[in-house]
Amino acid sequence: MQKPYVFITRALPESVIAPYRKQLNIEMWPEEEKPVPREVLLEKSAQVDGLLTMLTDDIDQELLKQTNTLNIVANLAVGYDNIDITYAEEKQVVVTNTPDVLTDTTADLTFGLLMAAARRIVEASEFVKRGEWGPWSPLLLAGSDIHHKNIGIVGMGRIGEAVAKRAKGFDMNILYHNRSRNKETEEKLEASFTEFHELIEQSDFVVSMVPLTPETHHMFDQAAFQRMKSEAIFINASRGAVVDEQSLYEALVNNEIAGAGLDVFEKEPIGADHPLLQLNQVVCLPHIGSATRETRINMMELCLDNICRFFNGKNVLTPVK
Ligand code: NAP
Repeated sequence: MQKPYVFITRALPESVIAPYRKQLNIEMWPEEEKPVPREVLLEKSAQVDGLLTMLTDDIDQELLKQTNTLNIVANLAVGYDNIDITYAEEKQVVVTNTPDVLTDTTADLTFGLLMAAARRIVEASEFVKRGEWGPWSPLLLAGSDIHHKNIGIVGMGRIGEAVAKRAKGFDMNILYHNRSRNKETEEKLEASFTEFHELIEQSDFVVSMVPLTPETHHMFDQAAFQRMKSEAIFINASRGAVVDEQSLYEALVNNEIAGAGLDVFEKEPIGADHPLLQLNQVVCLPHIGSATRETRINMMELCLDNICRFFNGKNVLTPVK
């Protein structure tokens, strides 16, 4: 029997891929840093049985329509807003993602971002490196306390809960908002379910961990930032488009909120001239939430395991939906 033909849209380490070559006929886009061009992705997806995709690949109707060979798309991310799930289901293309394996790693980064923004860690490091450190002074680079403050987590799912666990270690008071209440989480983490508006009004740190959907698109808009405390710090490690960046910028320059920590942006990579990057009170990262060597390898292996299981007639481990 012929091995299933699988196209991986970015160069992944051969040490991870090699064991899977016994079962799969694997072809890889040779670049590690540059996404596969759209025309190559379209051409390959019309020929292959499976795709291993990145969040930079649009698996939309156009692509899905023009393939009759594709059976499975394994996305190297837990978020799958780059894939038209409804149309994939219609075309009977199975879609998988990488939940759980990246939860703690992403929560570590999210809490690190919160700490960096609150205690002005990046700004302070740059200050020292520029040789501007003079005599000690009482309010030099004074930030905000983290301990005993209110953290409001919007999207208390796997990663949101892991962020809450870390916040508990800092004696923070935990508020959360989801569409549905989770009593078990409330008891475990002593977290209070709060309506969205109440959460953003009461929180010292507002953390977005919601998936990007039509419902969450620009959920943090001008009205939301205007409701926040003037000392509030906004953290986004979910997806850029949940935030209206122009409104965030205005809230920061008008001192309606105190700072922000952002791992994700509406357009990635963000241009170096973007107004948000000009503000000292903003810590910006290049979408590295799950970027540790261990976790990225676990994510790659989960994608490949899902593909192998599918072609062996077994249930995939992490189907979307
Ligand atoms: P998850 O377990 O599915 O959690 C998502 C949570 O959001 C759920 O609790 C869900 O609760 C809530 N939610 C969904 N729609 C909502 C809405 N309209 N209003 C309020 N709450 C809503 O997902 P996860 O594994 O924690 O991942 C969350 C997201 O993080 C991913 O989708 C991805 O975009 C992002 N992420 C980013 C990075 C990074 O590198 N920065 C890494 C990993 C993940 P209800 O269903 O009850 O509303």
